[in-house]
Amino acid sequence: MSRTIANGCNVIGETAASCDVLGTIQRYWGFNTLRPLQDEAIQAGLAKRDSLVVMPTGGGKSLCYQVPPAIAQRTDIVVSPLIALMKDQVDSLRACGYPAAAIHSGLTPDERRAVEHGLLAGEFRLLFVSPERVLAPGFIALMQRARVGAFAIDEAHCISHWGHDFRPEYRQIATLKDRFPQASFHAYTATATEQVRNDIVRQLRLDNPAVLIGRFDRPNLVYRIIPRVDVDGQVLDVIRRHHKEAVIVYRISRKDTESTAAFLKASGVAAEAYHAGLSPDIRRRTQDRFAKEEIDVVVATVAFGMGIDRSNIRAVIHAGLPKSIEQYQQETGRAGRDGLEAECVLLYSAADYMKWEFLLSRSAQEMDTPQEILDAGLALLEQMRRFCATPRCRHRSLTEHFGQDYSSDNCKACDFCLGEIKGLADASVIAQKILSCVARVDQRFGVRHVADVLHGANTERIRGFGHDRLSTHGLMKDTPVKAIVNLVYQLVDQDILFRTPGDMPILKLNEASLDVMRGQRCVHLAEPKAAKVKRTSTQVQSWEGVDEALLKLLRARRKELAFESGVPPDVIFSDVSLRDMARIRPASKETFLHIYGVGRRKLRHFADTFLAVIDRHCEGTSLDRDVDVPPPDPTRAEDTTSAPPRQTGMMSAGKAKAFEMFAQGRSIEDVMETLNRKASTTAAYLADFIETTKPESIDTWVDAGTYAQVADAAEQTGTRFLKPIFDALDGQVPYETIRLVARHVEQQ
Ligand code: ADP
Repeated sequence: MSRTIANGCNVIGETAASCDVLGTIQRYWGFNTLRPLQDEAIQAGLAKRDSLVVMPTGGGKSLCYQVPPAIAQRTDIVVSPLIALMKDQVDSLRACGYPAAAIHSGLTPDERRAVEHGLLAGEFRLLFVSPERVLAPGFIALMQRARVGAFAIDEAHCISHWGHDFRPEYRQIATLKDRFPQASFHAYTATATEQVRNDIVRQLRLDNPAVLIGRFDRPNLVYRIIPRVDVDGQVLDVIRRHHKEAVIVYRISRKDTESTAAFLKASGVAAEAYHAGLSPDIRRRTQDRFAKEEIDVVVATVAFGMGIDRSNIRAVIHAGLPKSIEQYQQETGRAGRDGLEAECVLLYSAADYMKWEFLLSRSAQEMDTPQEILDAGLALLEQMRRFCATPRCRHRSLTEHFGQDYSSDNCKACDFCLGEIKGLADASVIAQKILSCVARVDQRFGVRHVADVLHGANTERIRGFGHDRLSTHGLMKDTPVKAIVNLVYQLVDQDILFRTPGDMPILKLNEASLDVMRGQRCVHLAEPKAAKVKRTSTQVQSWEGVDEALLKLLRARRKELAFESGVPPDVIFSDVSLRDMARIRPASKETFLHIYGVGRRKLRHFADTFLAVIDRHCEGTSLDRDVDVPPPDPTRAEDTTSAPPRQTGMMSAGKAKAFEMFAQGRSIEDVMETLNRKASTTAAYLADFIETTKPESIDTWVDAGTYAQVADAAEQTGTRFLKPIFDALDGQVPYETIRLVARHVEQQ
């Protein structure tokens, strides 16, 4: 039994399997709720029913194949396309005390033998391998001896040539079905199109699979599409908003990645270029340094892709247009995988659209590609162009593109909904100036020349054609040439001006141009520069209460530990965990367990060292400790190292009895005495009862006056943290009461 609560997480009810699931995710990862669809996917894994799980990047697919073998005490195989991905996953799992291993070409013969030995001894719950290896006869024999229970196929879209990253070996995986008739097969992907989905089911021969498709919207991502005027300058602007944080910049050509990386380095940013023309050694080193937080920015072509497992990427910048919305979704999806806010900026120019159109057509000609494949590519490109050029909520456009509804009227997380797209007041006049200049140069010149004339440039070429004597020469002398170029492309994008295809494109007028010139059609143009970017509400919320100086110290400690143990920093703790530490500022091991992502092993290994940083920083300051930590629950085991005393879905007998009594309307004192519990424990039970059962009123436990007082304060401060409410009420209302009202208000 499972139910969904307001924040979209699943709280599991009483079935034994569900309890095991919660116990398992708490023990290893320190999580206490499941995300949408994780429960269903895990249940399919436990029941050994084939499944296809489609969740956006960061949705939590890994947990779905990690939990079943841990509960069933069996060994499952994960097929993963890249060694880097396998390594990261194995490092992260081991850091949580989860028995996992990988076999890949980077192992020494001894290491490999040790893993094979461990596999046969049943030591691992998960073994990661490549698609090539999983199909090798010797390895199949080994897996048969190891009695493999299930196969998880990660990045399963690689099986389909409709998706990006097509890998032909993936097609053979279905042959394993005949060799392992008792095993189940589970496919995972973030690629949402129906064509790819159907292809996966068919190619893998999934048998009556549970098909689980998540929501594609990523509310923590802020999308911005900005007219491109000065690429490097605009890229640097975004990077400056994310000082010392991880950013990926995508550029279309290899040459451009290098020039932008050089520009950024000269501007003091720790950046490197990455593209397929660099040697594998250099590429590996750059990827490694990025994972270890030694560099902040990678400027890359599409070649920088699946191997990136850094969860705290705070911005993805597209300096050029991706070829499809799917590609854009995949690349922007690498931002904010830890669930914290992140920014996706696309610097748009219709020139890119035209360049792609030209390149696709030329390569189709050269490779003799069938017309329908070229048409499909052009259609995807056109969708991408429309997405950029249409002023509309970006979250809505993307969600609808993937065939899902978007319910909110204002996402508060895109340039359109944040009111950042600035229109030019005199757009029609500007359009008329540009169009008359195209007419004056006899419709025989390209974008750059027209822009130069309008700006009043005094070049040999302009003088040679006598264009310095035109009435339109210098008509827009106050606008920089790059901005004029952008405005011209905006007109082309809106079909108000025609740009001929081919190698030497020129601008020509069309019917719409004439309408505009006659004043019969009005024009909208976006100001060719980014409006001032404000902090979004999600950003404000996620930083609430975080002591930024402490966060810096915690990050430094994390980096040292990561260096010492040779793993990426977010294997030690994610940014979410560190922000939680810098907000809660735990004072003891017991309260350290309340930090997001702290399971048994991490408590044992890292609590002392991080607590020492927090103690040192808080000493002699007025910073509160243990902020918003719920009162201890004496019904839980005292030994914090063996069982996390966290709020769980597994109900103790005492708590179940308390719920029964609250449902009968019994008072806190009554329950306290009957069950022989402390007041704080009983109040915590009641808060959970309110959250779980959502009673219409709580006046049995909180009088109407106090309720109104707390609810009013909560309206100002929000209910995520109780201290601001406590302070707003001058400490007159105890935390226990505030918590009850807050939980009730949240359910309304
Ligand atoms: P995906 O493979 O779908 O891109 P991951 O499995 O890497 O996503 O999960 C993204 C992040 O979310 C990881 O940091 C993971 O630890 C975290 N996560 C997954 N499930 C949960 C959960 N139930 N509660 C809290 N965090 C979770």
